[in-house]
Amino acid sequence: MSKGYELCDKIKNLTPYDPLEGEYRLRLDANESYFEPDENLRRELGEIAAKTAFNRYPDPYAVEVCRAFAEFYGLPESSVTAGNGSDELISIICGTLLQKGDKLLIFAPDFSMYRFYGELYELESVVMQKEEDLTLSVDKVISYINENQIAAVMFSNPCNPTSLGLSREDVRKLVSSVKALVVLDEAYMDFWDQSFLPEVQEHDNLIILKTCSKAIGMAAVRLGFAVAKPALSIALRAAKSPYNVNSISQAIGARILSKKELLLNCRNQLVESAQELSRRLDKLAEEFPVLETVYPTCTNFVFVKTSAAREIHQKLLEKSIAVRCFGKYLRITAPAPEQMEELLAALHDILVEMRDNA
Ligand SMILES: *Cc1c(COP(=O)(O)O)cnc(C)c1O
Repeated sequence: MSKGYELCDKIKNLTPYDPLEGEYRLRLDANESYFEPDENLRRELGEIAAKTAFNRYPDPYAVEVCRAFAEFYGLPESSVTAGNGSDELISIICGTLLQKGDKLLIFAPDFSMYRFYGELYELESVVMQKEEDLTLSVDKVISYINENQIAAVMFSNPCNPTSLGLSREDVRKLVSSVKALVVLDEAYMDFWDQSFLPEVQEHDNLIILKTCSKAIGMAAVRLGFAVAKPALSIALRAAKSPYNVNSISQAIGARILSKKELLLNCRNQLVESAQELSRRLDKLAEEFPVLETVYPTCTNFVFVKTSAAREIHQKLLEKSIAVRCFGKYLRITAPAPEQMEELLAALHDILVEMRDNA
């Protein structure tokens, strides 16, 4: 006989994450890399997977992959903690370095997972709107943090979804001017040149998050990293679940991260595609003023302000092209060169049709 179990308030109205369902010819909605391993690499990774000690638990500290990551970015190994995607690390930070009721400062627009985990762990999310042009005023942020007992601030740099970035100098000013924990998500920093990783050892209140899901092209293996000074790194390792990264992901991650030349070559092509997409959208915006603003990009995607975002998004889906829509903005992942024309032709057709029907 059921006694009438009820879900607690914080979970009652939560619904499972709802990714786009269905098959689309062009997936430009999740900022993934368009590079897939070639046959040789595929075989190499398959052999690694086949050699797994399937009956054994994984290495709890993921030493080999942390070493490969540290080597790739020129960091001390002791500063690196591996997670099951950076999503898990965001969850661990919110759930263990912070306490119920602590104020977590986040910005709008920014990556939605910060708020999601903050609320799951009963932190008080404080949302600060970005400026009209979607930039952040660092001085305002610093005063706000210091005057409002903010325990932690979490943001992406460069930002998903705006594709805009904060300079290293601004980040340095922010991190050095507050006592609060600063969680700096550099998921897209491989596409830009203002990484704060070289300075992580100089700050007691800083965690930098990285991921293999974007420039590294390994979203499937779920591998993220937190980089911080020893005190914070030890705390993260103590708080995470012991076997959070599976053996196959560890071994494949270590191998991929050892291929520096391949990764940098892919990165350069992804950057080139984003710049090309940005230029082409700028041109389109000259012809179709409904595309109000095409933001400059320092990522692998382009952010566009348009009052017709919903309509364009829907019409692209009808042409089997998926992009992301946020209110009056579109976020478009840069496609591979061979798909660039298809995307732009589809967009052009939609804009012509909308203009003719207006
Ligand atoms: C894609 C993305 C990540 C990556 O998350 P994983 O869990 O590592 O796949 C992290 N932060 C931002 C801002 C992202 O856009």
